[in-house]
Amino acid sequence: SIVVTGATGHLGRHVVEQLLEKVPAEQITAVVRDEAKAADLAARGVRLAVADYNRPETFDGVVSAGDKVLLISGNEFDKGRPQQHRVVIDAAKAAGAALLAYTSAPGTLTAALADDHRATEETLLASGLPYVLLRNGWYHENYTENLAPVLEHHAVVAAAGEGRVSSAARADYAAAAVAVLTGKGHENATYELGGDTAWSFAEYAAELSAQTGQEIVYNAVSTEVLTGILAGAGLPAPLAGVLAGVDASIEKGELVVPSGDLARLIGRPTTPLSEAIAAALKG
Ligand code: NDP
Repeated sequence: SIVVTGATGHLGRHVVEQLLEKVPAEQITAVVRDEAKAADLAARGVRLAVADYNRPETFDGVVSAGDKVLLISGNEFDKGRPQQHRVVIDAAKAAGAALLAYTSAPGTLTAALADDHRATEETLLASGLPYVLLRNGWYHENYTENLAPVLEHHAVVAAAGEGRVSSAARADYAAAAVAVLTGKGHENATYELGGDTAWSFAEYAAELSAQTGQEIVYNAVSTEVLTGILAGAGLPAPLAGVLAGVDASIEKGELVVPSGDLARLIGRPTTPLSEAIAAALKG
């Protein structure tokens, strides 16, 4: 069967939803921490496994020989994600999984945020499991789900200068994962995934202006200023610094993904940023 971790997260939900269109529900195992959050999936016939990356023993019996596993990277930045991810890789290896696909970060990304992904990639390659690296670029939703302050202040604030981002919709990255999990010939492949169009923050502000009918500007700030703004908005200081570091990487072009791998894997163009903006404005 196909085992999906992080199944009740944003990306995982898209993956399970799209898998249900391709394979019988009983061939899908959704790995969740909280069974109640996945009651709708269970009702549709998806198998649930309750497990936590922090408790290796909870993964006993979750993976069976021949399974294909999608390891969706965790979001507990302070809990040692490389070790958490290793738990899933070890369980898949011990069970004799046929494939483990991992949602990583672009190979060009040098920001601190990428460190956990590089460490996990190393663990996966060293495991000897047939692997797929889904090096996901940025989500449109990183921006479009945080429009309230932008609309309030009529400004997009970023520390990315003129840098560009090849973002795509979460649903696009989910479709790529589904293509790998249900298709053939992906063993030991590394895919650099990103949207077809790389945009700048000035262009993003212009598109927001066009769609709202209000003047929204791009306010380019330094990474220090952005770190202060994010910390002031309530983010823990280390995380604020890590996120500002991503903008520095964007300025250097590290989140431009020109490979075309995403559109090729999903067999269609990626979702334009303008569509994600329109969806977000509609609420
Ligand atoms: P979410 O935060 O919505 O989902 C994270 C998932 O990880 C959740 O399902 C969560 O479980 C699960 N998880 C976290 N910790 C554990 C744990 N200890 N044991 C088991 N499961 C755990 O993120 P998205 O779905 O939007 O994105 C998926 C991942 O991609 C993120 O976790 C992050 O690593 C990365 N990411 C990528 C971005 C990009 O632009 N490419 C942007 C942001 C994140 P639960 O549902 O129980 O909370």
